[in-house]
Amino acid sequence: MAELFYDDDADLSIIQNRKVAVLGYGSQGHAHALSLRDSGVDVRVGLHEGSKSRAKAEEQGLRVTAPAEAVQEADVIMVLVPDPIQAKVYEESIAPHLKDGDALFFGHGLNIRYDFIKPPASVDVCMVAPKGPGHLVRRQYEEGRGVPCIAAVEQDASKSAFALALSYAKAIGGTRAGVIKTTFTEETETDLFGEQAVLCGGTASLVKAGFDTLVEAGYQPEIAYFECLHELKLIVDLMYEGGLEKMRWSVSETAEWGDYVSGPRIINDQTRAEMKKILGEIQDGTFANNWMAEYKAGLPKYSEYKKADEDSLLATTGEKLRNLMSWVDEDK
Ligand code: NAD
Ligand code: MG
Ligand code: MG
Ligand code: MG
Ligand code: MG
Repeated sequence: MAELFYDDDADLSIIQNRKVAVLGYGSQGHAHALSLRDSGVDVRVGLHEGSKSRAKAEEQGLRVTAPAEAVQEADVIMVLVPDPIQAKVYEESIAPHLKDGDALFFGHGLNIRYDFIKPPASVDVCMVAPKGPGHLVRRQYEEGRGVPCIAAVEQDASKSAFALALSYAKAIGGTRAGVIKTTFTEETETDLFGEQAVLCGGTASLVKAGFDTLVEAGYQPEIAYFECLHELKLIVDLMYEGGLEKMRWSVSETAEWGDYVSGPRIINDQTRAEMKKILGEIQDGTFANNWMAEYKAGLPKYSEYKKADEDSLLATTGEKLRNLMSWVDEDK
């Protein structure tokens, strides 16, 4: 069973006695920087010249410097720029300014797990990853609560890296909810697998296949859209609140019976074998290396896949229907 850590297990003064640089001010970066500051931590935000986030961070009362300058000043560096550019930011702005005893922090393990970033042995390498988007992390903190986090140590140069990671997690509200100890390997591999097989890849393909099946059989696309995409939210909300049990308690007995008899025909032995293959390609680095190559090539296939889905009947049907639902995506 997982090891859990709460507020009483973490010493806030550890991170309060360090100087923290948060590189990036997006979803996670803004939440970390603001909550660290409100927890009495000396924090600066590192952003490149011309970053649109600069004005926002300054407006919110944070000091912004160039990434290299932030790393120079700080002894804890949290890397919250997009994963595919972290290695470049590391080479250009972090590595030249790292000092023995510094700690390098991440919100996701990809670059360390696949050796795209190889920090020197003299620094701590830690992860604190909230299990929620940055805006929720910040809002929960402000409300005196927190989003659960996972924390890991890849390299323990100081022999106290985990206490430092827990202290950081406490400063962003994580230990109020609970921090689970993990490793960079477990976090990275399960995160990639989850988003590919289930959350993003699996769900998107399931929706597309269901929609196409109904439309090809002659049903109206608008009706197919409601049944195969729109209603997914109701189901997922129930699962989120109370697992499969609450979903099955809430849907009709007919729906529940269909779930038992038809679900395993959709996710069958062949699908499960493919999941194992996908996991294997995550574990052996094939996925990560292919993705970095695609990114460096300027995202040719990524753009092609994106365009194809944006032009699909599913997309155009959804665009039209969502306009009928005033409560959906009000800040679009
Ligand atoms: P994001 O895309 O929301 O924000 C990235 C930020 O980096 C932006 O402020 C951007 O201006 C800045 N940036 C871009 N290039 C830069 C450069 N060269 N130098 C300095 N700053 C630069 O990113 P995110 O979603 O917050 O993800 C950050 C990290 O957190 C990733 O490792 C991600 O895997 C992890 N993470 C994200 C979430 C999430 O919910 N979004 C959850 C857990 C972990
Ligand atoms: Mg420094
Ligand atoms: Mg994830
Ligand atoms: Mg991910
Ligand atoms: Mg129905």
